[in-house]
Amino acid sequence: MASSSPPADSTPLLPNYVPVPEAALGPALNEQGYFVGRVERNLFWVTDGTYQSAFLATPDGVVLFDAPPTIGHNLRRAVDEVAAAEGVANTVTHLVYSHHHADHAGAANLFGDDIVRIGHAETRRLLLRDNDPTRPAPQITFEDRHPLQVGGERVELAYHGPNHSPDNIYIHFPDHDALMLIDIVNSGWVPIYNLNLSEDVPGYIGAPDQAMAYPWKHYIGGHLGRLGTRDDLVLHQQYIADIVDSAHTALASVDPTPYFRKYGANPWAAVDGYLDAVTSHAAAPVIAKYTGVLAAADVPAFTTSTTFTILQSIRLDLGTGSQVHP
Ligand SMILES: [Zn+2]
Repeated sequence: MASSSPPADSTPLLPNYVPVPEAALGPALNEQGYFVGRVERNLFWVTDGTYQSAFLATPDGVVLFDAPPTIGHNLRRAVDEVAAAEGVANTVTHLVYSHHHADHAGAANLFGDDIVRIGHAETRRLLLRDNDPTRPAPQITFEDRHPLQVGGERVELAYHGPNHSPDNIYIHFPDHDALMLIDIVNSGWVPIYNLNLSEDVPGYIGAPDQAMAYPWKHYIGGHLGRLGTRDDLVLHQQYIADIVDSAHTALASVDPTPYFRKYGANPWAAVDGYLDAVTSHAAAPVIAKYTGVLAAADVPAFTTSTTFTILQSIRLDLGTGSQVHP
């Protein structure tokens, strides 16, 4: 019998996207759903394909950098696996928080109360505010820099201002040629919604420059399945710069008049129509250029919402387009 509406349990119509570029993919996961690999010497990284964490396996114990809940108990398995292979202790003695967000820190409580937790002063303030038992606040905090020495290894923690979050830090491993900077560059992939859900747009856009000022070869970005390179940061910067340029062009070329004329007494409707038009105008050439180059560039909400976020920052942070009433 023919019916005009599909049954309620039918599969929704889902869009197709171009294949993920081979270069964006990482190593295969094991049966438990994780991969652990050596960055250099005794620095290791762990991924579940979507999130990343890292640890130093020293003779005095393991220093963990972030504890994403999606990796969860596999962090313990990865540490045990490496400690056994390397012949070092598997005790996690230190945990460094990159920033306070639960998606990178929500398995911190799995490592007990006796470990030394280190983070930015703002991370402590935010974790005390959020009062989430899975993310106990760091006991050791710093404002600008914190040189960390464990088991003969050195790590330089530094704060260069707000970016993705108000408290996101740079974790430099000078003797492992590596930099860990979370939620800024998704190596091989575009940022997700709204410029990777970033709170400080100029800070986020400037962060890769800060990262490039450090000497390193391996980039631990916190997301997706592989480590990054300096070329990944350059490509990300180009993608963002193209959105900024395209946003300026769209602001200068889309005429708001028809929207305000049509909606008259409803200026919010006019704002919505106008900003939607500017955003689509600005995002379209960027989506076309990066489809097949950066994975998920053709997932429309990502580049489009990121373009909207950048447009608002151009207006609100930089003051472009603000006109004083005569
Ligand atoms: Zn975050």
